[in-house]
Amino acid sequence: MTQPLVRLQGLRKTYNEGLPNAEEVLHGIDLEIAPGEFTALIGPSGSGKSTLLNALGLLETASGGRYELAGRDVTQFDDDERTRARHQVLGFIFQFHHLLPAFTALENVMLPGLMRPSGKDGAEAIRRRAAELLAAVGLADAMDKKPQQLSGGMQQRVAIARALVLGPRLVLADEPTGNLDTHTSDSIFELLRRFNREFGTALLVVTHDPRLAARCDRIVRLVDGLIAADEPNLRPG
Ligand code: ADP
Repeated sequence: MTQPLVRLQGLRKTYNEGLPNAEEVLHGIDLEIAPGEFTALIGPSGSGKSTLLNALGLLETASGGRYELAGRDVTQFDDDERTRARHQVLGFIFQFHHLLPAFTALENVMLPGLMRPSGKDGAEAIRRRAAELLAAVGLADAMDKKPQQLSGGMQQRVAIARALVLGPRLVLADEPTGNLDTHTSDSIFELLRRFNREFGTALLVVTHDPRLAARCDRIVRLVDGLIAADEPNLRPG
């Protein structure tokens, strides 16, 4: 079997550790994600989906358990190591895209490339790659537009291009279609699926939309901080 991209063993997360209001939110998550796998993460509100995504994204430290990312044990990584690992392996898409309003679409897509530790050298290469990705998401004519000049769906396309600019092996998406209408959601999903197939990028997508979950390769259901179900989808879209 190929080495998993992600391997979580007994991952725990407690917020406000050591304080009277401490709350364990993840109670021991075991999860493997294979390269190229397109997984939906579903579950009721408050079940810990965002917390799990943040732990996988090295945005939060776990309180217990073990996390291997692309073959490396990242559990004890310090801030610098986490930042580097994020830039090497991960991409992020959020519900509210978090584009920077003062920058153009092209600049927004380039940003992860300019912010990474070895950033500046490859600026021209990053610009080319960003322009290619914007064209691939159908925004060749909107590269010089600022976010507020773009529709919600277009902004999310920019965010997808930004997530892919460093060639991540795993993209973590937190309700990427959460505030979009059905038609726009479908086209965003199709883009994610296309990049999943073209680049072999694995995706873990938190969604409340059963229609989208039903089109992923696998559906993981979280309930009260534990995996309640984890099943392959036999008829993905
Ligand atoms: P979901 O994404 O499934 O809605 P979350 O991961 O956002 O669930 O939240 C799970 C639980 O963790 C909730 O009870 C929430 O109140 C709590 N929680 C989330 N973030 C924090 C935080 N930064 N500090 C304290 N508690 C938090």
